[in-house]
Amino acid sequence: MKKLLALWGCCLSLATAAQQLPVLCYHNITTPGQHQNDLLHVDSRQFEQQLKTLADSGYHTILPDEMVALLQQHKPFPARAVMITFDDSHDVHYSIAAPLLQRYHFKGVFFVMTVTLNKPHYLSSANIKALSDEGHTVASHTWDHPRPDGYQDWDKELLLPRRQLEKITGRPVWYIAYPFGAYNDSIIAHVKQAGYKAAFQLNRRPEASNELYTLRRMLVDGRWSGTQLLREISRYVTP
Ligand SMILES: [Zn+2]
Repeated sequence: MKKLLALWGCCLSLATAAQQLPVLCYHNITTPGQHQNDLLHVDSRQFEQQLKTLADSGYHTILPDEMVALLQQHKPFPARAVMITFDDSHDVHYSIAAPLLQRYHFKGVFFVMTVTLNKPHYLSSANIKALSDEGHTVASHTWDHPRPDGYQDWDKELLLPRRQLEKITGRPVWYIAYPFGAYNDSIIAHVKQAGYKAAFQLNRRPEASNELYTLRRMLVDGRWSGTQLLREISRYVTP
């Protein structure tokens, strides 16, 4: 019986390891009044309120290198750790989000699709280099954001953005977020082949057999107050 309980405890901690770290996913950060807050938009005032609540509640940020190392070593995540990620290369990630992260001593993860490099309203190479130099993690979001059945040129979607971002930042790029959070066995195989150490999806449970390539994130609703964000986080980390 003792053995059985120990085994159950072990499986439980492994199976739920990734759920125990809330990984937040943001898209557009807007100026107040510019757009209604929703699943893809949060205005800077509400975003700051969410960050402030996290900081006031003792949260600190963790980056993918540490997350992946802990998962590989089957070690628990530190208490009150959170990861804050941003998708789709919007220029406001640099101009609005990064200064607010800095205000609360947080670091973020920026998933960049490189087709938009240096285009109006999107991150420039200089923005990306600055984010990396400030200690944030720059990661890939493919070349042009294909749907799961739209990867025709694997090198262009997976290898090229790595090379481009590594050249810009001067640092290795080990992580990718699947566009639309969507993946399948073939995409995972190609992501591994392209040398990525881990990949992030959205809200499906991580696959036990492929945990590092199916890491879960939660879309943060722009309508959530800081308090509601805390409630959602506690729901998210409950197995
Ligand atoms: Zn995206």
